[in-house]
Amino acid sequence: MGFYGGFTMKVKILVADDSASDRLIIENMLSEYSILTACDGAEALSTLAEDDGINLLILDLNMPNVNGFQVLEALGRDERHRKLRTVILTNYNELDNEIKGLKLGAVDYIRKPINMESLKARIDVHAALLRAEHALEQKLGEQMLSFDVIFDQAPIGIAISHSSDPQRSDGSISEINSMFEQITGRTREELINSGWANITHPDDVEEDIENFKKLQAGEIKSYSMEKRYVKPDGSIVWVYMTVAALKPIGENILNHICLIQDISERKRLENERRYISEHDRLTGLKNREYLETLLVNDARQKNTLKRALISVNLSTVQLLTAKYGFLYTQGLVRKAAEVLRQHSTDTCLLFQAHENRFVFYRVGYKDINELADFCDSITETLESTFVTDRIGGGIGVLEIKQSDNDIEIDSLLRRLLIASERSINRLERYFTTCFYDEEMEALVNREIDIKDALSAIAAGEPGNELFLQYQPILDLRTDCIVGFEALARLKTEKLGPVSPLEFIPIAEKTMLIIPIGEKVIINAFHFLNKLKASGYDELDISINISIIQLLKPGFTSRLFELINEMLINPKNIVIEVTESVFDSNYAYINNLIMKLREAGIHIAIDDFGTGYSSLARQKELKIDCVKIDKYFINKLLDTAPNEAITGDIISLSHRLGHFTIAEGVERESQLQYLKEHDCDMIQGYLLSKPLDETDALEYLRKHNTDC
Ligand code: C2E
Ligand code: CA
Ligand code: CA
Repeated sequence: MGFYGGFTMKVKILVADDSASDRLIIENMLSEYSILTACDGAEALSTLAEDDGINLLILDLNMPNVNGFQVLEALGRDERHRKLRTVILTNYNELDNEIKGLKLGAVDYIRKPINMESLKARIDVHAALLRAEHALEQKLGEQMLSFDVIFDQAPIGIAISHSSDPQRSDGSISEINSMFEQITGRTREELINSGWANITHPDDVEEDIENFKKLQAGEIKSYSMEKRYVKPDGSIVWVYMTVAALKPIGENILNHICLIQDISERKRLENERRYISEHDRLTGLKNREYLETLLVNDARQKNTLKRALISVNLSTVQLLTAKYGFLYTQGLVRKAAEVLRQHSTDTCLLFQAHENRFVFYRVGYKDINELADFCDSITETLESTFVTDRIGGGIGVLEIKQSDNDIEIDSLLRRLLIASERSINRLERYFTTCFYDEEMEALVNREIDIKDALSAIAAGEPGNELFLQYQPILDLRTDCIVGFEALARLKTEKLGPVSPLEFIPIAEKTMLIIPIGEKVIINAFHFLNKLKASGYDELDISINISIIQLLKPGFTSRLFELINEMLINPKNIVIEVTESVFDSNYAYINNLIMKLREAGIHIAIDDFGTGYSSLARQKELKIDCVKIDKYFINKLLDTAPNEAITGDIISLSHRLGHFTIAEGVERESQLQYLKEHDCDMIQGYLLSKPLDETDALEYLRKHNTDC
């Protein structure tokens, strides 16, 4: 601090803040100054009254008792504090307060949470200004100090000028120190010869000039801003700048002083932080926030180029995560990002809107055919990339109409999501494309209604209904009903009855299947107890359990808890799972199934023969029963009996020690075939549709007369 050694003036700062930790941060950061502290406005005012050597006040606006505004008002009334510079501390969301504080006489503001480098840069500049003013006063009075010595050792860029024209200097800068040269990368001569507006970044000039005019008009005494200078090589430097009016020396010669501090490093950090907030961390692609900003800007500009959003969803990523773990799916997402990036151009930008959702924003395309071709090439890329991974997805396309410029970005993105989700639901190909239309929106609204009804049911709210129907299962050897399959039914206030084919996938997607599934189990157990009370204690209840339920930690312990509480014999329970359940964590699932079987619960493979199943696979599965899918039962109607493979499924299952249930038996001819091929049990409309509890009991009474 050799420079200041020449000064007698010590800068004394009072920090008024009710937060002890903020006071500490500020004290530490500004340790080179003489610091006093106050923990509220009243203490600040009394300290200021006692000590007239305080030059700078750092003032928190939000304090108990006497707050910052009241302090500013009191200071404004008191002539003694005319020279005190006050910097206020505000919160990020308090722009109003900032303005109010500045109007009350504060010279600058610093936002909380306090950025330490920013705080230091600002206070250093204000301190330098105080010292310069002080030195100038001394010079005026005593003609003792040489500016050249003072300024050339200052750690802050300082220029004193009486030029009134930002565009032209006319040689009117009277003092420039070497730090000012260093920061701006320009020599004294260059600085003296060019107006400052000419070396200021074009984006910052306007604000600077506006402030400068106010200063000249005497409306303000000083202003501070962050701005960029353009160096001779075209690079830019960020500075924190304070410009203050000076008392004229003699014939109106000096009129303002400009102090600058290099803050490029902090700006770089800020940009880095912004980069992080605008990009996806995993893939480095620009994120949804960024896309939204871009869409808002483009909507405002009302340009006439055709614009479209193309959303690429990797479906089932969540399910895959449940099955194979997070790292596996992260790898998939990264791979997808990589190959999609190759389709991105200047007029077709790629974003990652969500962990498993990518969006292309295409501007200036010719027509809808061009979009369709684009989607085809995306499909090709993805399908060849994921040939070995069981991953599919949907591509949704939304053309942005001129009339859409006024609608909220949120609803625009929602429409896009609708189109892409809709495309996923068409399973005929791995990736399918779907263009948005309004009918779709109705479908999605229906899905939302269903989800809401399920949530309400899960929360135990009245209004919507979840109940079970029971479909009888007949043993072909004894001709007795040996059990029922419990099938969930939903009736919502708004939509009436909703098929499980529709609401179960929604429940799975939203994880509501966990509470809903538990209600199903409890209802089914109640029915088992009713059967027992009616004397049927040998009958089984089959319950459909989804993979999401199985993978939920604690599933078995909760099930055993319910079995104990409700006095259920585990031997009367059949759990139906689809074969794909075993694709996930095979060891984990097998272990879980073993635990259930050890407790006496039976396990059935549902919908056998569909999906990815294979006959060979059955060997590995530790199960009791195979439910042959309706597909193979239907086949019996249009295939010659000796060509149908349904019989092979039955005999193979038997060889592996599994019994068989044929599902969806509707005709006598099917029953005949199944009997001939030794199928153990059947279920289907031929016997009965799923029945309400009382009807099921009634059916049983009629049917099981001789059992
Ligand atoms: P699923 O387990 O394969 O159930 C058999 C479905 O076939 C039932 O449809 C049943 O009503 C129907 N069905 C029975 N016999 C015949 C027939 O002869 N002809 C025809 N055309 N259909 C017949 P539902 O009740 O609509 O259930 C559909 C699917 O919803 C079930 O298929 C099951 O996967 C799922 N589901 C139902 N309840 C639950 C539940 O509580 N939990 C879970 N996770 N899934 C359930
Ligand atoms: Ca089933
Ligand atoms: Ca089935």
